[in-house]
Amino acid sequence: MIKLTKKREEIMQIMQFNNLFNVLRYYPYRYDILKETIKPTMEDHNKKITIEGFIMSDIKVNYISKSRQKTMFNVTNNFLSINVVMFNRFWYKSLKRGSHVIVYGKYDAFKNEITASTFMVGELNNQERIITHYSLSQTIKDSTYKNFVLFAYNNEKNNIIDAIPSDFIQKYKLGSLKEALYSIHFPESEDNLHQAKRYLKYEEFLNFCVLSSLKRKMYSLKDGIKQKHVNFDYVKSFIHTLPFSLTIDQKEACKEILHDIDSTSCMSRLLQGDVGSGKTIVALIALVANYKAGFQGAIMAPTDILAKQHFKTIVNFLNAFDTNIKVILLVGGMSTKDKKQTLEDIQNGKANIIVGTHALISSNVNYYNLGLAVIDEQHRFGVKQRITLKEKGKKIDVLYMSATPIPRTLASTIYMDMDVSTIQAYPYKERIIHTEFINSLKITTIKKDIDNYLAKGKKIYIVCPCIDESQLELNNVIKTYQSYKKGFPNIKIGLLHGKLANDEKEKVMQEFESENLQILISTTVIEVGINVIDANMIIIYNAERFGLAQIHQLRGRIARDGQEGYCYLLSASTDEEVIDRLKFICTTNDGFKISEYDLKRRGAGDMLGIAQSGKSPFTIANLIDDFKILKVASEDATKIVNDTVKYKDYLRYINSILEQNENYLD
Ligand code: ADP
Ligand code: MG
Repeated sequence: MIKLTKKREEIMQIMQFNNLFNVLRYYPYRYDILKETIKPTMEDHNKKITIEGFIMSDIKVNYISKSRQKTMFNVTNNFLSINVVMFNRFWYKSLKRGSHVIVYGKYDAFKNEITASTFMVGELNNQERIITHYSLSQTIKDSTYKNFVLFAYNNEKNNIIDAIPSDFIQKYKLGSLKEALYSIHFPESEDNLHQAKRYLKYEEFLNFCVLSSLKRKMYSLKDGIKQKHVNFDYVKSFIHTLPFSLTIDQKEACKEILHDIDSTSCMSRLLQGDVGSGKTIVALIALVANYKAGFQGAIMAPTDILAKQHFKTIVNFLNAFDTNIKVILLVGGMSTKDKKQTLEDIQNGKANIIVGTHALISSNVNYYNLGLAVIDEQHRFGVKQRITLKEKGKKIDVLYMSATPIPRTLASTIYMDMDVSTIQAYPYKERIIHTEFINSLKITTIKKDIDNYLAKGKKIYIVCPCIDESQLELNNVIKTYQSYKKGFPNIKIGLLHGKLANDEKEKVMQEFESENLQILISTTVIEVGINVIDANMIIIYNAERFGLAQIHQLRGRIARDGQEGYCYLLSASTDEEVIDRLKFICTTNDGFKISEYDLKRRGAGDMLGIAQSGKSPFTIANLIDDFKILKVASEDATKIVNDTVKYKDYLRYINSILEQNENYLD
């Protein structure tokens, strides 16, 4: 391997690069295109523009403080004369009256002024007019990195080979990987940059789509042919005993799921729908069908609270239908005696439907004949946990459930290793939740509303972030608890967090459900599954620390049964992006729109549950903005996996990635 300078060795280490190819694959996250604005107008106010001209004034330098300095001068050309300010540019000495400069920055039309974010002296060639920005650690300068990229390119350029099959490259006129990797770092024109992006986005999507198709093929091959027959009459008679009729979406989802269960290949299906859209009953219908076909079924939930709630719900529904179906609960913290009996019942087949937490996948749990596994809130489980449950049976059907739904068209393209059923409409009237963002951690402005609300005897959830339950964060909930006790001396307040023993947690929850407590201060342990009808207000502290999907889940606790709900998001953040994000969620209650917003801004990440490492598989492509490319890549992927001879080289390449992935899983 080539010898690197010390600085470059350091960059490799900091950026966790293994080879020079990694350097090339680390793309700029932003490009500033210096296109001269001839005559800025009011339209350009507060926008970033570029001007070129000569410095026609003295250069004034003010020291605001020892480390802060402001440089000012005037730039003039044939059409305009404009003031330029720059902060902390200590090399101002190279500037002088008469220099030709290019300035890029935010324009203030009222002051006729630009605040320069990029600044250059002299004439520029085309390449220099596109400024690349890399996301690097503070110790690495963009220019240093860029030099390194050029070095890497020159060393690797003869080894850059297109992985994408050549017929697709020709069909879409994608050029070559070599060109794309050069132009993404050193674009010569906007068009040139656009071409590079087209190649790299398509490549990312194609790899992803082929990878997931192969994964699916691999699993279904392993699964083999199964013998399971749905007794549709029996299932129908169960549906008739329900206290409500199913919505159209629920019916459609049931149809798809029952068809999968009845077929000879194993089901791998995702059931997605917003919080409260009624997924549980659909899962139960699947479990009933699976039971009548002669198999055990299991449903796994991420928390004790949720598992217990599912247990209660399921027992209730089934009691009104067929009391022969034996449902049991398996969670952590059961007495030794109960646990022993439960494990026995699972092993000897007395238990027909087993409801539980990850206790379901412990090594001491042996199933008699597990035929269907339902995984609720699937993104809360690791890939390994999901696979472990699957491997507790032979040729089993798996139903994943997600309350972070993504648009139907996107879902059917992106989840190539699963089929997707979507519940779009709520079973009852759309919920009304008023969400308000408060740019502070104090409730002064809403104190009156809270008092009025409490005076009606209603209840409030207060949520504090406490992600790793460290002592520091725990103090946060406890402090909030104490300050609420002071602020609301006549109100009974409870405290709930993950460090409490199970029976204590349960006691607090029960007191909140019954009349005793009116305010519940808690960490995100309440995120899923709690159902307290007269709690219609939720206040979330440090809302910036939560993802939008999570906030949406949290507020899903309120406004049940047709009542209006109030959600307050408190954050003292000054970060514009954070504020925009929190303001956005105030405008919609639609889970699909929320995940779309997240996908657009943060990439796919763990919210799709597609990247095991939690890192987005897409570094340049965006699922929402580049959906058209995704669609094409997905169709091409199908062609590729169906013609293993023609595409054997590319498939070998993808298989090698898949193998690395598999290793990661173990
Ligand atoms: P989620 O999709 O969030 O898991 P649930 O399955 O918990 O939602 O359903 C939310 C509530 O709606 C439950 O109380 C459930 O009994 C009720 N529900 C489900 N389907 C219907 C329906 N078709 N009509 C009326 N209520 C329904
Ligand atoms: Mg649910």
